[in-house]
Amino acid sequence: MYEKHKVLASLKIKFAMNNIPLTSLRIHQFLGIHPGTSLLVLGAVHGNETCGSIAIKRIQDEIENGTISINRGILTMIPITNPLAFQNKRREGQRNLNRNFKVVQDPKDYEDHICNLLYPMLLAHDVLLDLHSFQSPGIPFAMIGPTNNNGDLQPFMRAQEEEAFAMSLGVHRFVEGWMEVYAKGVNEREVRGVNAKIEYGIGTAETMRQSGGISITLECGQHDDILAPQVAYKAIRRALHHLGLTPQMAPFEQQDSTQVIRLYKVVDRLHHSDEFCGAWRSFDKVKQDQVIAYRANGQPLLADEDGWIVFPNPSAQVNQEWFYLAKDSSRFGCK
Ligand SMILES: [Zn+2]
Repeated sequence: MYEKHKVLASLKIKFAMNNIPLTSLRIHQFLGIHPGTSLLVLGAVHGNETCGSIAIKRIQDEIENGTISINRGILTMIPITNPLAFQNKRREGQRNLNRNFKVVQDPKDYEDHICNLLYPMLLAHDVLLDLHSFQSPGIPFAMIGPTNNNGDLQPFMRAQEEEAFAMSLGVHRFVEGWMEVYAKGVNEREVRGVNAKIEYGIGTAETMRQSGGISITLECGQHDDILAPQVAYKAIRRALHHLGLTPQMAPFEQQDSTQVIRLYKVVDRLHHSDEFCGAWRSFDKVKQDQVIAYRANGQPLLADEDGWIVFPNPSAQVNQEWFYLAKDSSRFGCK
């Protein structure tokens, strides 16, 4: 069970992090005296997603007071990865830091500068744990990468290691298929004559995999869920033990059964009068041929298969992602 005093302590930390410098990134790094895996933990890549920042502060305190010892590898933690967005309590500063992630020769906006600081740090680590939260109420989930493949879109050869890492973090829902579905969405926009680029779908996790590492984006709960920092904290503790950085076992709880969900389609909003037919929440179940929304001309949009609606966004801009459809996956031997 979650302990109330720990939740209250988390809230105090949150309150203390209001004033932060915008022209530098604060990094906490612990080098184990023995060689081992290097782990990078990011909090607040999106500025209104503070669970990771709170959890990182708690881990830092526990290392410094001796509750956790880092004796192998490298632990690097960035509690506030996007200071401008964090200060503004918004997802973005001047743009989404977790899209179009690359080195920028001639940085123009705030996130360009942060990308340039962050990119070499990703390359210098073996594993990334990127801690996020989400808009509508729901249970935590982990976004995982592709299976092993030699394709052009997202070649990858470390799927088993990444799956084992994902399974160690203490959540039981996993979502796959991000880049594939994003690429499909880009193709459909091009057919409509809308300018779209596949590079825009590349964030911290995709960059990490491209550079030979493994990565999990952990969505720890709804933005204001007081349990989300606890989910993030336990995930870091579990990661540290799973990767061999610390001998201390992580706090353990009984695992529920594992569920893997595969994104298979993204639907853009095409007109400001396109409307959902209900107040969808992420991971609401849908039946094949169930009406999800109506186009402005009255055309119904149906679910292609039994499955789920994911990331519905009633305030999506025209030609932007409106909702995703997903179905059960057999990955991890589920189904
Ligand atoms: Zn996020």
